[in-house]
Amino acid sequence: MSKRIKRNAVIAATVVILFVCGLFIINYYKSYKRIAYSKEALTLKTYNGTSTSKNLIHNNESIPVLMYHSIPDNSSGNIMEVSKRQFQEEMKYLNDKGYHTLSADEFYDFIVKDKPVPKKSVLVTFDDGYENQYKNAYPILKEYKFHAIMFIITDYLDKGTLYLKSNELKTMSDNGINIESHTTNHAKLDKISYKDQLHNLKDSKDILEKICDKAVRFIAYPYGYFNKDTVTSCQKAGYIMAFTTSGKWANVNKGVYAINRIYIFPQFNLDDFKDRITDPNYGQVVHPIEMIKGAYKTFVK
Ligand SMILES: [Zn+2]
Repeated sequence: MSKRIKRNAVIAATVVILFVCGLFIINYYKSYKRIAYSKEALTLKTYNGTSTSKNLIHNNESIPVLMYHSIPDNSSGNIMEVSKRQFQEEMKYLNDKGYHTLSADEFYDFIVKDKPVPKKSVLVTFDDGYENQYKNAYPILKEYKFHAIMFIITDYLDKGTLYLKSNELKTMSDNGINIESHTTNHAKLDKISYKDQLHNLKDSKDILEKICDKAVRFIAYPYGYFNKDTVTSCQKAGYIMAFTTSGKWANVNKGVYAINRIYIFPQFNLDDFKDRITDPNYGQVVHPIEMIKGAYKTFVK
């Protein structure tokens, strides 16, 4: 009897050990793959020849990445609010002039793998996850069959009337909008520890992946703030590209974890908008980060 118990105990222990080893091997393989991927992301190939087609560009050229926030029915003039009407006008301009709105993958492949894209390419992005991005911006994007990335603050999801609902995220994700991370709580990443950054980036990624059932691989740093630890956290958490708010056209020069974006203000007329998508050295009026911070404080309750 006691022999049988002993034998059963040995079998049970062996099963548990095999199971734990299995988990360990799977995890090791996953993290190995992740590291291999981010290494690839850091080895940038830059095009040195001349393009075979005048309608395509290589990654020795830059691309405008537009950054929007709230898209309300009417803007109060707060720099985070571009009215639905202004947004409609700007998207119509892109459509009328034959612009190609890149998907997140197309943009990544262009920057990292030098896969050529149409000369008139832009990347449209939104921050913070306001519900009016679903109610006002999404129908316009759909009308023109435009791609866009929405960077979501996951703690604000399903909270009150200002922010997006999970089901709205899922709908947009299923219909060509890339849903990506803007952290869990809009933290100033450069002000928190490496450990806290890593948690924040992993948690927001997990939450969005569960809602949308798709990989989340891109992140926009709140206020554009980041430090060395942020980049390491991004790589560890499995992000392959990260966006700042630095106001210039995007290229490979600063690396895949510091992609530039251009702020679109409510004070712009169509000429200001045109400048930003046609001229890499557009009259870079102010891009005062302090101004954005101030607006954020008064805007987010
Ligand atoms: Zn933000």
